[in-house]
Formats: sequence, C-alpha cells, structure tokens
Amino acid sequence: GTKLRLDKLLAHMGFGTRSELKKLAKSGAIQVNGQTVKDSGLQVDPAADRISVDGEPVQYREFIYLMLHKPPGFVSATEDARDRTVLELLSDHYRHFAPFPVGRLDKDTEGLLLLTNDGKLAHNLLSPRKHVPKTYIARVEGAVGADDVRAFAAGVTLDDGYVTLPAELRIEQSAAESADGLSHIELTITEGKFHQVKRMFEAVGKKVKYLKRITMGPLRLDPDLPLGECRELTGDELEALL
Ligand code: URA
Repeated sequence: GTKLRLDKLLAHMGFGTRSELKKLAKSGAIQVNGQTVKDSGLQVDPAADRISVDGEPVQYREFIYLMLHKPPGFVSATEDARDRTVLELLSDHYRHFAPFPVGRLDKDTEGLLLLTNDGKLAHNLLSPRKHVPKTYIARVEGAVGADDVRAFAAGVTLDDGYVTLPAELRIEQSAAESADGLSHIELTITEGKFHQVKRMFEAVGKKVKYLKRITMGPLRLDPDLPLGECRELTGDELEALL
C-alpha cells in the first residue's frame, strides 16, 4: 500500500501535533510491528503495518462522519471572520480529520448537520440532481392552512422568481390551537436554495420564527444527542448514506 510518515498518520488520528509526536516517539511509547520506533518520521504503510501507542493498537482510517445537533448562533462554515463556526463545537480529536459541513444551516437555524472529510459523499448529497429530501420543523407567524399545503405541493415563486419543486407541508398545530399562537409545521423539501424554507413562507405571506432540521436523506437527528454535541455516525447510518 501507500506509505506515509508515522507522525502524519498519528496526527490525523488525533494523537497530537507533529512536535508532540516527536517527543512521544522519543519516549518509546510508539511501536510498529512490535518494534519500538523512536523516529516519528518513519515511513509506514497504514494498511499493512501494525501501529500502537502506549500499547494500544491504532486503527487508521481516512474518513470521518459526524452528526452534529447544531445550536443557533453558529455559522455552517470552517472559518469566519466574525462569527463562531460549527467547527468550534468539535473536539480536537474530530477536528484533526479536517471535517467540513455538508451543506448549510442558517446561523439561527438548529438541528441536523452532517460533517465529514469525505468530499465524494458531500458532493453526492448536495448534488441538485439527487433531490435528497430534508425535513424541517418550524414555528411560523401567521395562520398556515390548507391553502399553503396546496401551494407548497404545487410550487411557490420565491422573491427571485424561482419556482420551488413540490414540497410536503404538514400542519402539526394550527396557530389557533398552539400555546404560543404560532403555526407548528413540518416541511419536507428536496432541494436546497439559499434560505429556502424562510423564503417559501415569505412567498405565502408568513414568517418563520423558529427552524430546525430533523432529517437529511436517510439520516435522522438522534433525539438523544444534546444541542451543541456531535457523535460519529453508526454503521447502519453510514451504510444507508453511502
Ligand atoms: N431553509 C432556511 O431558510 N434556512 C435554513 O437554515 C435551512 C433551510
């Protein structure tokens, strides 16, 4: 297989920086195929060589797939001059893999955000031709009704003239029956125009006050994942996605 530097491999796996790994190797903590290796610049083959740190075998992998329960107040980017980014919510261990968000949620939107360093998967999920369904729950100012359900099913015209693809709108609680006087809805769309959900409601004269994404393709936000936290996808979730 292809070889790479031992320190590069271990840094990628979250074992520290290059200089930390140099010290770690000098201390005798790293073994390759049962031999202590004091030179962290050694070329290794991650597919063939058995690597261990402090006696623990290191399982090399290239890709990482994270489900984040995005809180409001963070932008879906890897860098931003003004705002905090969703990357700041990840531990150093995960950040070593250099993941990026697959698509965007607005700064004030919360919910399911997938982060990965697998560019091919990201590309497939975001491709406009794939029509990956995404479900949102929202609270909307104004009485969302059967007319809106029909309008969204037919397609509405956004402020820039774009006509949306058929979308499924379900009214969970009408404005009249909800405690906060807002319409509680669920909406499934199969495309991802800029601010799409907010602009669809604007097109029918209503305003989104709260927005949360709960599904993306086969992925569903884990109800046990607290706001602001992330976890790796399970084997089943990954299989459904790939
Ligand atoms: N639609 C929006 O308007 N905002 C989001 O964050 C996602 C979808």
